[in-house]
Amino acid sequence: MDKITIQRTSAPKAKPDVNGIPFGTYFTDHMFLMDYVKGQGWINPRIVPYGPISLEPSAMVFHYAQEIFEGLKAYRTAEGKIQLFRPYENIRRLNNSAERLCVPPIEEEDFMTALRTLIEVDADWVPSEPDTSLYIRPFVIATDPHVGVHASHTYLFAIICCPVGSYYPEGIDPVKIMIESRDVRAVRGGTGYTKCGGNYAASLRASEIAAEKGFSQVLWLDGVYRKYIEEVGSMNVMFKINGKIITPELTGSVLPGITRKSCIELLREWGYEVEERMLSIDELMAAAADGSLEEAWGTGTAAVVSPIGEISYLDKDYTVCGGKIGSVTQKLYDTITGIQWGKIEDKHNWIVPVC
Ligand SMILES: *Cc1c(COP(=O)(O)O)cnc(C)c1O
Repeated sequence: MDKITIQRTSAPKAKPDVNGIPFGTYFTDHMFLMDYVKGQGWINPRIVPYGPISLEPSAMVFHYAQEIFEGLKAYRTAEGKIQLFRPYENIRRLNNSAERLCVPPIEEEDFMTALRTLIEVDADWVPSEPDTSLYIRPFVIATDPHVGVHASHTYLFAIICCPVGSYYPEGIDPVKIMIESRDVRAVRGGTGYTKCGGNYAASLRASEIAAEKGFSQVLWLDGVYRKYIEEVGSMNVMFKINGKIITPELTGSVLPGITRKSCIELLREWGYEVEERMLSIDELMAAAADGSLEEAWGTGTAAVVSPIGEISYLDKDYTVCGGKIGSVTQKLYDTITGIQWGKIEDKHNWIVPVC
């Protein structure tokens, strides 16, 4: 990759009260951009003021959804330093998504340099209030001006950032979820294991209907048997049943979450038996009915863990863990956030300091 050119904004924006703005609405002063041209590779890496980008209406991303993205956060420690949590996992996952969607890969160290340089330029946008962070959204879009189905020959790689407030300003409140029996999020052989925009487009209808009925997430079942649990909303999902932790295995339709992976590693270190396997809705509902379902939670970068307090299936409601956060869920939350903000020693080498 060539040297990144930096064009600083002449009109820096006011910093918002980070706990007073909705997630993902207020962006920092700068963004990273880089172009891909077949035959030349990734060229023209640059940091420019955050603002609109110009594309032909025929740009392939608008028509055929050749788009992939990532989501990670930068955290400010008590000493004022800025650090990332397992960023190479995000970089590798973007390249796995790229392979599935015929997008050219990005050299790992180039990607890391882009992240570092952008965070350094926008360093004063990383908030320091408790539990706040800078959300980072790298993405790639197909830009060929061509209405015709093929893999694009040109792409734009961009990284944008937004300061985000505490995910749980009023404390962690368990969510009510609904089992989705009509729509499926992904199928094996499809794009379920990638972070691509199309997966989200297909998930919207179920989420909208669930929200109208008062549920905050849907529990997705597999697309073949309509029977095995896959994910909850846009999070991975874990259950504690009879003392054991059970989470759906990565069959190709489940997104390999970095929070999921971190939870599994911690749980095994703490001595829990963790089973990555198919878990049917019948097995889950039987465990909910006889009381052996002790805890349930979703995992993802935005919330870290999101406890599930109620599950609705075939118009029957089951309360989990008395509708409260369970002790394993709480311990995972405390440990992972403790490492992210530098309050707990990082024994796993998960932290990458930036500046
Ligand atoms: C991003 C995402 C997750 C969580 O992944 P993390 O790496 O833990 O943030 C889970 N499921 C889906 C569908 C996702 O898009």
